[in-house]
Amino acid sequence: MKPIDWKVTAQDGEARTGILRTRRSIIETPVFMPVGTQGTVKGVRFEWLEDEMDARIILGNTYHLFLRPGAEIIRKLGGLHKFTTWNRSLLTDSGGFQVFSLTDLRKLNEEGVEFRSHLDGDKKFLSPEISMEIQAALGSEIVMVFDECTPGDAGVEATRKSLEMTARWAERSKNRFDELQNTGMDTGFLSDSEFRNSDCGLAFHENESQIPNPKSQIALSGRQALFGIVQGAGHLDLRKESLERTTEIGFDGYAIGGLSVGEEKSVMYDVIEFLAPQMPKDAPRYLMGVGTPEDLIEAVRRGVDMFDCVLPTRNGRTGGAFTSAGKINIRNAQYATDVEPLDVRCPCSVCRRYSKAYLRHLYQAKEMLAATLISHHNLAFFLDLMRQIRQAIKLGNFAEFRREFLSRISNN
Ligand SMILES: [Zn+2]
Repeated sequence: MKPIDWKVTAQDGEARTGILRTRRSIIETPVFMPVGTQGTVKGVRFEWLEDEMDARIILGNTYHLFLRPGAEIIRKLGGLHKFTTWNRSLLTDSGGFQVFSLTDLRKLNEEGVEFRSHLDGDKKFLSPEISMEIQAALGSEIVMVFDECTPGDAGVEATRKSLEMTARWAERSKNRFDELQNTGMDTGFLSDSEFRNSDCGLAFHENESQIPNPKSQIALSGRQALFGIVQGAGHLDLRKESLERTTEIGFDGYAIGGLSVGEEKSVMYDVIEFLAPQMPKDAPRYLMGVGTPEDLIEAVRRGVDMFDCVLPTRNGRTGGAFTSAGKINIRNAQYATDVEPLDVRCPCSVCRRYSKAYLRHLYQAKEMLAATLISHHNLAFFLDLMRQIRQAIKLGNFAEFRREFLSRISNN
């Protein structure tokens, strides 16, 4: 039995919709996953994510949870689902990306990475095996392999060395992952029948009609799924090689890593356009850490199914709001007397109730509600955008949708 099930439901050019079933939720793709760095999506309650936005999957960060409160504490508390009460799907990253961002604080060798905690300077060590152990303690539905994230501007030699290390680490990740699954170390284990009888199972029934082939409702193993990561910076031949080595090992899904790390947008789009059509057609494709609304549309157009990004909440905390007319900043004086909502086209509860003038006042007065309300709107906007994208693909008018969306945001 497989840990996840994924099927394409519609295709428009390279863009595709699909249904992803995990042991905890039914997820329509393309999907945007809100980032829950420290066991919380910053400033936004789970109730809102569940009831209003209908988010089916969020992200957890291995690096942050490993340092605080620590994997063993979370294991004792029954895993990240029980600890946080988030009962829908979780994807956890491997911790690699954050560790490699600590350029001054780390020492890398074949075995893994030694680094100093950004919290207290304590020496810590992460390896493919340890990352798998932490992610099993967290009990996420989707586990990411531990990879070395190559800087966007790395030369050919450095990139090749890095992707070879990533391939060896991917193999080690998979070996340890399998051992952990076989010895019951995953705190999130949930059998298929438990899922069907759970509250999250309701989400399954709501969506049942959208699954075109009833045979796709095969029973799931209840185990974690493991995704491989393709690296190779902006070098297309190395990207291809990394993809071949990753698919050779074999994973439940495939991610494109090492983009949106400072390279030109055109490089990112070229890599996706080159890579996505060559990736396995019957597995979800996940573009890590991307991006703006335009990036999401451009990547979906090139065949990507899953996304995560901190932008909606990070910008929300500094007054930045994403709208269907482009990005605005609520600090601007022009909003002081603006009685319109952030986005007249947005169906979220913030836009139904509050004016830009009020949100600006909250922000200027340093009220914490400002960050909460703008983050809430931004996430609702991103999730609604994904719904519109899926709708357009199903109707076969994604190209027209893209043209209209991009012209609206560039006219403002
Ligand atoms: Zn809104």
